[in-house]
Amino acid sequence: MPYCVHCGVELDPSVHRCPLCGTVVLDPAAPAAEDGPPFFPTRPARVEPVSRRAAALLATSMLASVSVCCALLNLFLKPQYRWYLFVAGAAAMLWVWFVLPLLAKRWVPLWVRLTADVGAVAAYVALIALALDGWGWFFGLAVPVLALAAAVVCALSWLMRKGHSVLTTVTLVLAAVGIFCLGAEACGDLYFHGEWAPGWSLIVTVSCFGLCVPLLVVRRVPSLREEVRRRFHF
Ligand SMILES: [Zn+2]
Repeated sequence: MPYCVHCGVELDPSVHRCPLCGTVVLDPAAPAAEDGPPFFPTRPARVEPVSRRAAALLATSMLASVSVCCALLNLFLKPQYRWYLFVAGAAAMLWVWFVLPLLAKRWVPLWVRLTADVGAVAAYVALIALALDGWGWFFGLAVPVLALAAAVVCALSWLMRKGHSVLTTVTLVLAAVGIFCLGAEACGDLYFHGEWAPGWSLIVTVSCFGLCVPLLVVRRVPSLREEVRRRFHF
């Protein structure tokens, strides 16, 4: 027999309100009414994550839309130059970088992705060279720097293929930055002056390797490594 939660009077099981004080009778143990609203929503309200194909479609339409708008604007703004090609080229490069990985159905090896990424940058730089008639600097400067960047990133990804601690990753990335800067300045010097005279890159490289040394020491000494791990929550 139910009782009123407010005044404690004994209630008939069929009443929905206390006849004495008017408090609504709610019996959680009573079977839910067939026609009444359910206590809990029957449909899960979870929002499904966006599918990769939908994200790729959205990104593609955004890049294509920007390219088309700029092409139309080019008809009126400085029509003597086809500047919209730079925007379209940048959009194509971004497409290769960000949308192509979304469309891949299975895992793609990192070197394949890097080759595609560097190829996209090379194609874009080639487009600029074509527009400015600068094949000299393209082959003399851009191609060597891009090839160096690709080689450094490939070597870095090969060294980190098994996944390493944060300390090792930071050390490797610093070393890679140092090597790349040294090589990039060498490419520039050889192109512009015909001889290698390291300047700013040497400072960057020495600083990077100077930072690597204490990291290597920390990595070698277990007590130091544990201390760093505790303090920085690695
Ligand atoms: Zn009551």
